[in-house]
Amino acid sequence: MPFEQDVEIAVVGAGITGLAMALALARANAGTGAEVALLAAAPLPTSRAEAADGRTAALLMPAIGLLTRLGVFDPTGLGAEPLYRLRIVGGSGKGAAEGTALTFDAAELGMEAFGWNIPNATLAARLAAAVGRTAGIAVHAGAPLQNVTEAGDRLLLEAGDTRLAARLVIGADGRDSMVRETAGITTTQRDHGQTAIVCRFAHTKPHRNISTELHRQGGPFTMVPLPGRNSSLVWVDRTAESEARLDLDDDAFREAMAPLAEPWLGPIGALSRRHAYPIRARLAKALTAPRRALVGEAAHVMSPLGAQGLNLSLRDVATLAGLLAAHPGDPGDPALLAAYAEARAVDIKARFWGIDTLNHMVMQSLPPFRLASSLALGLLDRLPPARRALMQGMMEGVPDGL
Ligand SMILES: Cc1cc2nc3c(=O)[nH]c(=O)nc-3n(C[C@H](O)[C@H](O)[C@H](O)COP(=O)(O)OP(=O)(O)OC[C@H]3O[C@@H](n4cnc5c(N)ncnc54)[C@H](O)[C@@H]3O)c2cc1C
Repeated sequence: MPFEQDVEIAVVGAGITGLAMALALARANAGTGAEVALLAAAPLPTSRAEAADGRTAALLMPAIGLLTRLGVFDPTGLGAEPLYRLRIVGGSGKGAAEGTALTFDAAELGMEAFGWNIPNATLAARLAAAVGRTAGIAVHAGAPLQNVTEAGDRLLLEAGDTRLAARLVIGADGRDSMVRETAGITTTQRDHGQTAIVCRFAHTKPHRNISTELHRQGGPFTMVPLPGRNSSLVWVDRTAESEARLDLDDDAFREAMAPLAEPWLGPIGALSRRHAYPIRARLAKALTAPRRALVGEAAHVMSPLGAQGLNLSLRDVATLAGLLAAHPGDPGDPALLAAYAEARAVDIKARFWGIDTLNHMVMQSLPPFRLASSLALGLLDRLPPARRALMQGMMEGVPDGL
């Protein structure tokens, strides 16, 4: 079958990770005339309304740095809010007030904010708009990738009527990645039977730019600041509990969240539509295969506990774009792909297993663990060097490779 177009690099998937990947590559290619192909299963979102994702992402300053370098971070109109403090309430059982609270302040690291909480939908729409006006990105939208075949030093991609031959295929196609599957890369899966309910809510007390994560039996209950007296809620619990709460009317849902939210934010006002996200962690057993590299959720999916997922994905993007920019020539060079896998392995595995272990402990939350958790948080509170080390670990940078 004749292939319509021959490209150096094709990015598959136009979620936040794939859009950022295509932009980072175009930026690195600027002036060379090289073109990146971006394969999107559906037309790119042109407005927030079209990007159907109820989540927000707490993105730490290193990730915000990458988005700024890509020209898409301007808080005006983004619906984003800075995060000055992060509060963890450990060992809380039924209500919010029972646990031990530990608050980290960005000022302790000499920073104004740890990061920003950004609605995924507005971020995706803004990235898509930037892709649309950036020279050097050819968007093929409207049909999912259906087939990948190997042909010498190219991979042949078929998506609807689109036929492409690429020297490197970057899989940014999410948790059920076809790029990963067709490469024969298997995954380790962890399913603790949890589902997250996500929505926004208005409240009467100011949030003071503090993100609050309550560690409760069943999973974390997290309130993350949005502009004004509004916050986003990520309420992770056992799936049966979450499903029952999804069926509640607004008044009953407000009543269910009141004991947890109101001690911090006062009486709850208007609620947005609720979205459900089953939590199934997945880790790809390899990040690369011949002429393929995985980024974002194609490589790692984790619990929202600790808000690490997209931060990690943007580090994948920056590392791969930096390596490709530093090694002109064949983008599918095995040595380059090995360097990418090596550069990302420790960060990804440490976050994946660290979050999975913490998630498991939080959700079991048996009385002895609740006590240990309270003691550990209390101890951390009194040990400034340990607090700083923890904060620095959390803030690990996006490599400045662009
Ligand atoms: C409840 C919740 C809260 C979260 N909060 C945070 C947070 O606060 N901070 C944080 O850092 N992270 C957070 N995360 C993680 C973050 O939301 C995800 O990591 C991120 O949205 C995944 O983006 P992605 O682009 O990698 O994947 P996706 O958004 O899944 O994008 C994949 C894209 O690939 C496309 N695609 C799939 N198959 C094909 C195909 N065959 N051909 C072409 N295209 C294809 C899809 O249509 C989609 O557009 C949270 C996650 C959850 C569940």
